[in-house]
Amino acid sequence: MTVSWRLEAADGHARAGVLSTPHGEVPTPTFMPVGTQGSVKGLSPAEVAASGARIVLGNTYHLWLRPGAETVAGLGGLHAFSRWPHAMLTDSGGFQAFSLAANCKQDDDGFEFRSHLDGRRCRLSPEEAVRVQRLLGADIAMQLDVCPPGGSPEDQVRRACRTTSAWALRCLEARRREEEQDGRRQALFAIVQGGTDPALRREHAAELAALASDRPFDGLALGGFSVGEPIEAMHEVLGEVAHALDPARPRYLMGVGTPRDLVIAITAGVDMFDCVLPTRNARNGQALTRDGKIVIKNARYKDDPLPIDPECACPACAGGFSRAYLRHLFIAGEMLVLRLLSLHNLHLYGEITREARAAIAAGELGVFQRRWLERLPARDG
Ligand SMILES: [Zn+2]
Repeated sequence: MTVSWRLEAADGHARAGVLSTPHGEVPTPTFMPVGTQGSVKGLSPAEVAASGARIVLGNTYHLWLRPGAETVAGLGGLHAFSRWPHAMLTDSGGFQAFSLAANCKQDDDGFEFRSHLDGRRCRLSPEEAVRVQRLLGADIAMQLDVCPPGGSPEDQVRRACRTTSAWALRCLEARRREEEQDGRRQALFAIVQGGTDPALRREHAAELAALASDRPFDGLALGGFSVGEPIEAMHEVLGEVAHALDPARPRYLMGVGTPRDLVIAITAGVDMFDCVLPTRNARNGQALTRDGKIVIKNARYKDDPLPIDPECACPACAGGFSRAYLRHLFIAGEMLVLRLLSLHNLHLYGEITREARAAIAAGELGVFQRRWLERLPARDG
């Protein structure tokens, strides 16, 4: 069995569906918490699942360098190793190699860099990205792609599209060879680049669709967003591009974003998201709410007996932990507050996707959108 997606209901461009994977069904739209080192920082698998998440993202770059993909494979793959029972997706490692590793150079054959851990020289080619992700064994693997920074000149964005297409084909071929060898199937998603130019995005999506061989890509991702471009530009391009992607396959917006971004992207027709924002902000002492951000260390919460969000049913809020107590823990450097804020923030993302699904099924997407956008500040995150 591999991965498939089916539509359950649509309202405008927004879609409610179900992603079927070897590790269970994932209702979409869905948010994938990021398990950078094989764990969503500070939380147990049961706690992550309690937020509503049924799929997480694992970072190939980190696990490849440490403890090593062979080690993880020897222990049964990333599912068994991390004890996450539900669906899982791994990224290709390219984005992190480019942003974290030392002396990262890109050529036609992939990335060459030195590990940020021990300086060892590494090479990540499309074939290696497929091989490593098969060892990790997630339900969904991502192709290796080139992600130009926001605001890159057009020729650089076009070059990134060309290389990404060439690597997409090599990833498909590599997967075919590996599957022939061991008979194990793994879903593979292609990545659409094209910066903030809707025409270029659509052109690249068509090019990737044309690559589809006897076993095409199982889903399509939109990469290269939230990389420094103005946020309004991202929203505009999403509105023009997301719904134009193949309606039969899941659409995944990579590395995005704030609660506002999710609401806007779901409306535009996106089904899947991942972002470190809810967990990273939690570790920086920020709680995300329907009314924007709460910076828990602020003096105004010193005597505040209310939970982070009185409307929220997460373990932090329903558990009755006051803002004053959380502030105290944060200032005292206690780890419990980072866990509670992470639980709360992930719960909020779970709520957005749950409410979106219900609204799409009821034909009330407009109500959902107004309910969130009227309260969230124009710039959040
Ligand atoms: Zn809460």
